[in-house]
Amino acid sequence: MKKFLGLMLVVVLLLSISLSFAQSLTEIKKRGKLLVGTEPTFPPFEFVDEKNQVVGFDVDIANELAKRLGVKLEIVNLPFDSLIPALQQGKIDMIIAGMTITAERAKVVDFSKSYFEANQAIVVRKDGKFEPKKLEELAGKKVAVQLGTTGDLVVSDISGINVVRFQKFTDAFLELQNGRVDAVVLDEAPAKAYVKKFPKFSISAVVDTGETYGIAVKKGNKELLNFVNQTLDILKSSGAYGKLIQKWFE
Ligand code: GLN
Repeated sequence: MKKFLGLMLVVVLLLSISLSFAQSLTEIKKRGKLLVGTEPTFPPFEFVDEKNQVVGFDVDIANELAKRLGVKLEIVNLPFDSLIPALQQGKIDMIIAGMTITAERAKVVDFSKSYFEANQAIVVRKDGKFEPKKLEELAGKKVAVQLGTTGDLVVSDISGINVVRFQKFTDAFLELQNGRVDAVVLDEAPAKAYVKKFPKFSISAVVDTGETYGIAVKKGNKELLNFVNQTLDILKSSGAYGKLIQKWFE
């Protein structure tokens, strides 16, 4: 009986150790792949290219992380508002999705140090009929956003705006093109990328929201968070980060 109890104790201990190490670096290495969640309609951070591959600034950072761990990268495409739940459920190891560090999100996930700065932009059709310079001028209008983004939050905060929420920015811009909405509100860098691709659109204003992007890991996963922060430091000090900026933004 004593022997049995002893054995049970060992089993319970081993189990609890393996549970607390879930998604540890060892786990990820054992699995042989790093699972990174993202939403790929957010160029130049993550988007689908001509070869149907998800590429971009964030994807290159994800590749660096996987390379340093000696594992393959697996990009997991999800709607933006499903990323945090997927992380909490352990379906992905981290989120790299141009995700703004907000106090609300930081309650449920842990963010790396910031790796990019952003503001919101208002995109309209270029016909000159409607050129809002402030968010308040969107009152009484139909405005498309991506569900659950900071763009969604700032627009939903202003009364009188008819907010239309999409899972994909590509769909939001389709609505703008077809005249079914009057504007799209999203982060400035992707706004510039869409305007570059579709000359029918233009940015009527950039609203200073002072956002910074972070990589999110499961709450309490210090080991993975430290690894991400170290890698970001190395990328910056080695000049690799600067090269990625040149590659995707110039
Ligand atoms: N930065 C914005 C946010 O975190 C938008 C991110 C995105 O759409 N990928 O809400």
